[in-house]
Amino acid sequence: MTTKILTVLGARPQFIKASVVSAAIAADTRLREVVVHTGQHFDSNMSDVFFDELGMEKPAHQLDIHGGGHGEMTGRMLGAVEQVLLTERPDIVMVYGDTNSTLAGALAAAKLHIPVAHVEAGLRSFNMRMPEEINRVLTDRVSRWLFTPTRRADENLIKEGVAESTITQVGDVMFDVALRHGARVTEQGGTLERLGLTPREYALVTVHRAENTDDPQRLRAIMQGLEQVAMTRTVVWPIHPRTRATLARLGLLENLRNRFVITDPVGYLDMVQLEKYAALIATDSGGVQKEAFFHRVPCVTLRDETEWVELVQAGWNLLTPPLSAEVIAGACERALTIQPAEIQPYGAGDAARIIATHLAA
Ligand code: UDP
Repeated sequence: MTTKILTVLGARPQFIKASVVSAAIAADTRLREVVVHTGQHFDSNMSDVFFDELGMEKPAHQLDIHGGGHGEMTGRMLGAVEQVLLTERPDIVMVYGDTNSTLAGALAAAKLHIPVAHVEAGLRSFNMRMPEEINRVLTDRVSRWLFTPTRRADENLIKEGVAESTITQVGDVMFDVALRHGARVTEQGGTLERLGLTPREYALVTVHRAENTDDPQRLRAIMQGLEQVAMTRTVVWPIHPRTRATLARLGLLENLRNRFVITDPVGYLDMVQLEKYAALIATDSGGVQKEAFFHRVPCVTLRDETEWVELVQAGWNLLTPPLSAEVIAGACERALTIQPAEIQPYGAGDAARIIATHLAA
């Protein structure tokens, strides 16, 4: 008898994280997996590209649910995932991170009394205005297996009264992905060549969080701060669809095109190339903050808080609330001069195998 895991995915970082865990499940004869794609991210450069280049099988179920408010999207996913669960009858439901797809998958399973495994459990920003914080706190609450990336994540859960027997610190699955797939990236060809970038001379930017894209003042401060950076070095910016829509609405896209090298979102391997050979990264992404560290590139995080506090403490990451152009430009300059401490907080790169072994036992 094999244990049947049903995995619910929907957003870009989840496809990337699942690539290594699904491979570890496939390698364990005691397990089998069925994947459900909610449709939260659906553009080919936000979804298909990752399945193709990270060697993942196409999901067995495509729910095509996206758009609308957070409540509406999560509610529609909840109903649709429930239907799939009633048909598939898995032994375990696996979810990743902190998106609406995560919460919908976890909640649908919990209500059917199917045990939930949460990968990337225990992260906290302690800011309940963030949709991600709501999703991760509630998902952790209904999960049977909490697979945490760091010691800090364990501590967060224990402080909330979570039973220690349900917590397993496995390391960060994104570190696994960086070692497994990112290591094959070189500075030859790819997006560096397509965009005419010189290795180690440009700054890489990503912005997609609601707290920045939905607040014109913050978004303007980010643009103006980066314009100052762009006076002395090339700034390259793969633009997330949500950010593009806001910039277009504010009439800022043309300005962006004139000052920066902008591009549509790129695939994972192109993104790793951009990260690995950047002089500096400025981002509000959780994943990109860590990838900056994996490739030992200084990072400015354009947020009020971060879940990855160990990088701030060691000096790899300058946490910079994007409140004014001057603050952002100043942080970018400072980040280039800091000498961070060497740390190893994200495990040994075998988080995926540990998760699979744990669930198979
Ligand atoms: N990423 C990518 N292409 C891009 C921008 C990001 O492949 O154009 C990858 C990035 O390398 C990281 C992940 O997407 O692995 C981060 O996802 P995102 O920033 O959307 O979400 P977060 O990590 O903040 O949850």
